[in-house]
Amino acid sequence: MEAAGATAGATATATATADGSSKPRRSSSRQCSICNERKAALKRPKTLEQICRECFYVVFEEEIHKAIVDSHLFRPGERVAIGASGGKDSTVLAYVLSHLNRRHNYGLDLFLLSVDEGITGYRDDSLETVKRNEVQYGLPLKIVSYKDLYGWTMDEIVKAIGMKNNCTFCGVFRRQALDRGAALMKADKIVTGHNADDIAETVILNILRGDIARLSRCTLITTGEDGPIPRCKPFKYTYEKEIVSRMLISKSWTTFLQNAFTLNAYRGFAREFIKDLEKIRPRAILDIITSGENFRISTSTKMPEQGTCERCGYISSQKLCKACVLLEGLNRGMPKLGIGRVRGEDGRRRQSKQANDASSLHRKQSGTLEF
Ligand SMILES: [Zn+2]
Ligand SMILES: [Zn+2]
Repeated sequence: MEAAGATAGATATATATADGSSKPRRSSSRQCSICNERKAALKRPKTLEQICRECFYVVFEEEIHKAIVDSHLFRPGERVAIGASGGKDSTVLAYVLSHLNRRHNYGLDLFLLSVDEGITGYRDDSLETVKRNEVQYGLPLKIVSYKDLYGWTMDEIVKAIGMKNNCTFCGVFRRQALDRGAALMKADKIVTGHNADDIAETVILNILRGDIARLSRCTLITTGEDGPIPRCKPFKYTYEKEIVSRMLISKSWTTFLQNAFTLNAYRGFAREFIKDLEKIRPRAILDIITSGENFRISTSTKMPEQGTCERCGYISSQKLCKACVLLEGLNRGMPKLGIGRVRGEDGRRRQSKQANDASSLHRKQSGTLEF
């Protein structure tokens, strides 16, 4: 997730790592282990191979291309929304996808999709970054506002409900915003910049929470295929450190801006845990994803049922999805409607059945449901 780039700007060498522990180059005269011609410029975090910059560009993109082809991610002619937050992951994703689309003739109609929550000042910087991406990669940019999607800006919601409970709105509305925006823009698919580290983290979180339903879905490269708009993660096997490296060694990207995304404490713990594992065993991130993929759920395990919201069609286990309940409260001048119902553990479970699995990466359970 975007917040992980916190230390990315700390150093501008190609050997920089996402956790800030940039190591001195062992030997500057070392040859690239792929081409055996040029000097190695960086060590691949996944394999610890020493490779040159040119070979890194190639393997980085070819691995993503392979993930796309192997899992039949796209079909020619599809209209694909790239969820663009202005952070490093979505910026690199926009670049790589536009490049691969041309190079390998995917035949995709790509566009950048950004959501403006309508919080004064909050999106100014990241929307500037996305607007730069629009020009750099020649991708059309669509910005949808909360006003377009929900009829309310976050500023107006805060005014109506006060500072205390607005996190509930923020979390619920954010979870659906990309899907609603993509539907508004008539997209066939959404792609997001979630990387291997994010997915490994989600596997650990779902194990810790005992959330079997999510555990069985969170490693899928495409989710929501039964819903209106499937979501794909082309960076499923891409390490965050390599995304940072790809960003840092591109001159035009040195000014990327940090997204103001905040992690909840529980996810933060899972992230630290994975970083510690990775230090001991670089493959750990891929191993966790593989473990998640190989979980088999006993047929006697009761799985939550998923339906769709009667009003908006978003995935929901209730008649109305959480966003529609909250909106109804706002529109009827009773903004607290729907907030009191999800309290404590039961509420959390009910809540966890509702949301779309792909958006699990944006969930802020521990921070948002307890007042
Ligand atoms: Zn090389
Ligand atoms: Zn709804």
